[in-house]
Amino acid sequence: MSDIRDISLAPSGERKIQWVARNMPLLNQIGDEFEKTRPFEGVKIALSVHLEAKTAYLCRTLARGGAEMHVTGCNQLSTQDDVAAALAAGGMDVHAYHAATGEEYVKHLTAVLEAAPNIVVDDGGDLVNLLHTKLTHLIPNVYGGCEETTTGVIRLRAMSADGTLKFPVIAVNDAKCKHLFDNRYGTGQSVWDGINRTTNLIVAGKNVVVAGYGWCGKGISMRAKGFGARVIVTEIDPVKALEAMMDGFDVLTMEEAAKVGDVFVTATGCRDVIDSRHFGLLKDGAILCNAGHFNVEVAMDELEGYAVSKYEARQNIIGYILNNVRTIFVIAEGRLVNLASGDGHPAEIMDMSFAIQALSAQYVLQNRGKLAPDVINVPEAIDGEVARRKLAASGLRIDALTPEQTKYLSSWAV
Ligand code: NAD
Ligand code: SAH
Repeated sequence: MSDIRDISLAPSGERKIQWVARNMPLLNQIGDEFEKTRPFEGVKIALSVHLEAKTAYLCRTLARGGAEMHVTGCNQLSTQDDVAAALAAGGMDVHAYHAATGEEYVKHLTAVLEAAPNIVVDDGGDLVNLLHTKLTHLIPNVYGGCEETTTGVIRLRAMSADGTLKFPVIAVNDAKCKHLFDNRYGTGQSVWDGINRTTNLIVAGKNVVVAGYGWCGKGISMRAKGFGARVIVTEIDPVKALEAMMDGFDVLTMEEAAKVGDVFVTATGCRDVIDSRHFGLLKDGAILCNAGHFNVEVAMDELEGYAVSKYEARQNIIGYILNNVRTIFVIAEGRLVNLASGDGHPAEIMDMSFAIQALSAQYVLQNRGKLAPDVINVPEAIDGEVARRKLAASGLRIDALTPEQTKYLSSWAV
């Protein structure tokens, strides 16, 4: 039986799902195909992804293919209770509510795993981790999994390297049609959506510090520039730092940046990027937030000890009064600002990411027993298929090579 906050919220969640459905043409097509072929008939899928409307639509798409869905979120703050209610009202097994405690969160992950899934769809690796630690007896049922995000894939590779991973997991994040669009343009837009709607302050003219110039950091910096900010990048990788420099951004150490930044966004997947080495250097009124996987990029535990007191400055913003009498502000408890303080990436972006998820889940099923217990790349054919479908759905056509061009490109003679 589902464990959600309030089933009476279902109509509001249903409106949100219907809104995104209009803007997810790939999932619509894939859902139509699944409905005809029913590839997941008799298959149980446990899914732990940010439980908002786009994810709900992925769940329904998999269910159209015959899957028995067992659904939870991957972050208590990004779960939207009305969306969870809409799924449960439609008969799906849902275990999640907004602002669940850590214990309740684990209870929800456990509940979807106790359904004995054949496929696990993870975002950040919490399901896989639980299966490999406390619920190992359920592993024999699992054909394989799919992982949505960078940090999850990094953790899976670490498990694979020490021989711990017991079933194949598709690295959805590493598909071109995922990280080139989702991490860059999706995070680029939704991070500013989260910051802007939460602070209601202007970005133009501010010094924005972006920590990490990977796929997410590139998008966040690009959009900050578009808003008229002066953008400063911090990095640990010399190549990425040079890239940021050539893209026209200032590159500083965090120690230098801390003194001049107005808004800080971390997107590194690392920890302690802004910590007690920096808190005392920050300007009065500095705003900190995180777009990376976990709430350790801004060292929240240290900040709690460092600050003299704290107060709610505005919904989802805590003001920390520091001993040097300055106040700094943290959005959404240092958790992913675009999801814990917004609706996450736009529908058109999640359409691509979730098309890869749906086709990768089908791939796991089609190759049941044939894939090694390892991190598996999304097949090129799926990546290409998603790109072709997205182009067509966008009404765009591209050129095709002539036979002469194909020959020219593959020959070594002049
Ligand atoms: P990436 O590997 O492309 O980029 C991370 C960058 O951070 C790298 O360039 C690395 O050199 C840099 N870095 C690492 N430690 C650093 C430090 N201490 N200081 C400064 N720079 C540092 O990864 P990505 O795809 O950009 O993902 C970044 C994080 O965001 C991951 O945790 C990922 O799971 C998460 N993510 C979040 C969203 C979202 O919706 N908020 C979307 C996609 C990914
Ligand atoms: N478990 C982590 C999750 C990392 S979130 C946590 O503690 O919160 C990063 C992932 O969120 C990205 O890879 C992106 O694909 C996904 N995402 C972004 N917007 C989303 C949305 N609107 N719905 C579902 N997932 C989303």
